[in-house]
Amino acid sequence: MTDDADPGAGAGSDDGKLAAFLAGERLDDVAIYLTHDHLDERGKIANMGEAVDEGVVLVVPGDDGRRAFAAGTGMDPMQFAKGAMDRDGVVYPDLSGGECPDAVAKPEADHRAEFVFAFGEERNEGVGGLYAEGDVMHAYAHCRCGTDYSHKWVMGEYSEEPAVEG
Ligand SMILES: [Zn+2]
Repeated sequence: MTDDADPGAGAGSDDGKLAAFLAGERLDDVAIYLTHDHLDERGKIANMGEAVDEGVVLVVPGDDGRRAFAAGTGMDPMQFAKGAMDRDGVVYPDLSGGECPDAVAKPEADHRAEFVFAFGEERNEGVGGLYAEGDVMHAYAHCRCGTDYSHKWVMGEYSEEPAVEG
């Protein structure tokens, strides 16, 4: 869609990549959702990802993902995740946004998710609880109102209820 894009980049379908990531088949990759406001001007990030409502979801190797996230948001993804992990919210199963936990208390604010960062963690019976059930998705979202929140679920068993760790 952009004039100066590398013809090789973005060619082919990324559908399979996101589906595989959501199914826990790409545990070395990370997924990033960015609304159009946070995409780089040259359209490089947009070309790497899959278009969804109001933005793009990228599934890329961890290091590339960190760079793309930092380029789009100006934040380090792990720093962001750390700040978001204390608050439970709902991130959509395809990672294309979420539901802010402050939406009910602050109905006057705009509660669109601006970006999401997600990664999978391999099943780990030693840790127990959720982690013994299967690969776990960790998803972190930033709301336009300023609230950061997180959501995790066992891949393939998406639930809007916050996971209870046992
Ligand atoms: Zn909000």
